[in-house]
Amino acid sequence: MKIYNTLTKRKEEFVPLEKGKVRMYVCGPTVYNLIHIGNARPMIVFDTVRRYFEYRGYEVNYVSNFTDVDDKIIKKAIEEGVEASVISERYIAECKKDMEAMNVRPATTHPLATEEICGMLDMIGTLIEKGHAYTVSDGTVYFRTRSFRDYGKLSHKNLDDLQAGHRAIQVTGDEKEDAYDFVLWKPKKEGEPYWESPWCEGRPGWHIECSVMAKKYLGEQIDIHAGGEDLIFPHHENEIAQSEAANGKEFARYWMHNAFLNIDNRKMSKSAGNFFTVRDIAGKYDLQVLRFFMLSAHYRSPLNFSAELMEAAKNGLERIVTGVNRLTELQAAGSAGKTGADAAPDREAADRATKAGERAAADGLTSMTEEEQASWQAAQALKAKYEAAMDDDFNTADAIAAVFELVKLANTTAKEDSTPAYVTALKEELCRLCDILGLITEKKEELLDAEIEEMIAKRQQARKERNFALADRIRTELADRGILLEDTREGVKWKRA
Ligand code: AMP
Ligand code: ZN
Repeated sequence: MKIYNTLTKRKEEFVPLEKGKVRMYVCGPTVYNLIHIGNARPMIVFDTVRRYFEYRGYEVNYVSNFTDVDDKIIKKAIEEGVEASVISERYIAECKKDMEAMNVRPATTHPLATEEICGMLDMIGTLIEKGHAYTVSDGTVYFRTRSFRDYGKLSHKNLDDLQAGHRAIQVTGDEKEDAYDFVLWKPKKEGEPYWESPWCEGRPGWHIECSVMAKKYLGEQIDIHAGGEDLIFPHHENEIAQSEAANGKEFARYWMHNAFLNIDNRKMSKSAGNFFTVRDIAGKYDLQVLRFFMLSAHYRSPLNFSAELMEAAKNGLERIVTGVNRLTELQAAGSAGKTGADAAPDREAADRATKAGERAAADGLTSMTEEEQASWQAAQALKAKYEAAMDDDFNTADAIAAVFELVKLANTTAKEDSTPAYVTALKEELCRLCDILGLITEKKEELLDAEIEEMIAKRQQARKERNFALADRIRTELADRGILLEDTREGVKWKRA
């Protein structure tokens, strides 16, 4: 698999730090408002990256934070006359609802900045000890940018050039040693949340949280660090400086950045006021359409949001879903001995047919006719095309083109008299390829309580046998179907999301 690495400005073969595993960190939103569809782009894109790694057999540890201490959150809390935590908790809950509606899976861990202050104090202490940070008279701690030789390596900026441009704007009387030194810890202001520290009562700067959370949940070295391209400088550049100066090791191997979602060719952003929230869109479209729209472009290409493109996405997605539904109808008709078009989709019959088809496929396609076997080879070639696109820096646009071709093949070759083996094999293939893109082609039936209990028991057994990959798969399958697990001292508890 090849990934475009912002650090080297090249596509590189992906080689994990640990065989079969991916450690991945994606910068999450600042939670002071409903997320807008620009924020949704990295969520959808990197969720798809995660799903594809899993399809390729990797176990993915996916960490994405919520920034829950920040000037904008505090401002909103003051406006509403409530604690900052009331604001952040409200918008984390809303963000999780949006994620679910976009079929973005919950991260393995969603750490909160306010719960990681201890780790931040530790890392800042280490940076001071090593001479990479210093305090000034009001207790602010700054990172000494000059002390980190590689500063600028991600954004491909040269510190001397940067500083020549910025010396003029350095405020007189500022105790910073250098204009590009950035804040690690700052003193509280009246009415703001604060924490005790060796330097002053205060709160962390923004960049330090990600260095600390990545280290705690993924280790000192990670495979992939990702986010929107506006984060390259200064946020990610500063994360590299902090982590590498503190840990003495390369931080992330691959840096992935999505391009902007634009409106009228300008970046969608809250501050510019040219944004739609995910909720706005949910009022008009199923959010599967939004997901399909996002993935119809390569993640490194700017994407312009427009009503026409959303309509095109809606039609495109419908074509796929209709193709899958038709296969389900054919399965049901075949299994129930009915003929053709007047057969109502009967899920039980379709499920029976799926099982029969799976057995037939496992038998080596013997139950397909010769003609079907030839078509099945064509379907396999399309799957290979899809994989080649995804292997090439997650080219979802080309992968979707391969899915359309597969739908066309299914529409023209699967008929009432097709064998169950052929119809089922096609449908399974199509659903699998859509599932990697997070596109739901069939609504799954709600799980019964007894089925949930049974899956949890299977997961417990897998954990006992130290088969963590299986245990994780079961947890994911449950999460996909809206069942959240909590491991407690009294055992596993579950609830419907
Ligand atoms: P923020 O809440 O602004 O920190 O943003 C959360 C994530 O959304 C970051 O990865 C940003 O880079 C990303 N993001 C914000 N606006 C856009 C946009 N218009 N297009 C693409 N990504 C964006
Ligand atoms: Zn970050």
